[in-house]
Amino acid sequence: MLVIQAQAMGMCFGVEDAISTAHSLKNPQDVTILGEIVHNRRVQQDLIDRGFASQSESAREELPASSSVLVTAHGISDAYRNRLQGKTIVDTTCPLVTRVHKTARRFADQGYRLVLVGKPGHVEVLGITEDHPDTVVLPSLEAVRAGLGNKLAVLAQTTTPSDLFEAVFERVKELHPGGAVEKLDTVCRPTKQRQQAIGALLKRVQALVVVGGAHSNNTLRLCEQAEKLGLPSVRVEDPSELNSEWFRGLSVVGLSAGTSTPAEAISAVYRRLLEIGRALRPQIPRGFTNKVFTSRAHS
Ligand code: SF4
Repeated sequence: MLVIQAQAMGMCFGVEDAISTAHSLKNPQDVTILGEIVHNRRVQQDLIDRGFASQSESAREELPASSSVLVTAHGISDAYRNRLQGKTIVDTTCPLVTRVHKTARRFADQGYRLVLVGKPGHVEVLGITEDHPDTVVLPSLEAVRAGLGNKLAVLAQTTTPSDLFEAVFERVKELHPGGAVEKLDTVCRPTKQRQQAIGALLKRVQALVVVGGAHSNNTLRLCEQAEKLGLPSVRVEDPSELNSEWFRGLSVVGLSAGTSTPAEAISAVYRRLLEIGRALRPQIPRGFTNKVFTSRAHS
């Protein structure tokens, strides 16, 4: 079975920098990580083993007991930041998320109502909506409605598919004729690179495996892209979750990963896929020469 890897995939610089900052801290036992620094069980467990405390993303009402808190790459609202006064904040907010916060503030100061294309309740989205409570969060094109206001600014959660962002903007404009509808594309560059890579990959494969956590928005979006084209996709976090039966009869499988997936997790899944391909090879009918049942070196 040929396993083709996406040209761009896996951990982005924002998440890498956040993990590296966490690892550089000398006093992890005094630090609570607000939410998941990365949507990966093994990395999360490693940080807990080092002594970090962790507070669930959904438990925002309670303040952590520790003297220091680590803000993840997803960022937090100014409102939440104010509530953390008195604590030492280790801020690993990705600069591309900070850009969204600044853009949102600028539009809001100019009297625009914010329209954010993203996932309601996602921690990055809360970073905007907690400071701008009248923000309209739209997860899909179908969710766009009329009557949102006559001065609207359309922004995107950083991991939104670019085509969805553009389509929502056009629909908002269409439903608000005569209104001022502005946009700023705040989808981050690493996300765009991964979306372009998956677009190219999906033209060449029969199914897609995406390595990433169940809470990783961009991981789920990659699966959705495959499903939109009618290709089966599966999300796994580690190789033990792969079932060889899924691949019976397939000769070309694509591999991609979310922006919070460590390189080791991708390599482990890749190796397991090759093993599965080798194990299934005897199923090829005698006399049938399938040239695509080869593997290429892992790059
Ligand atoms: S997905 Fe984009 S915005 Fe989010 S941490 Fe990575 S680079 Fe930054």
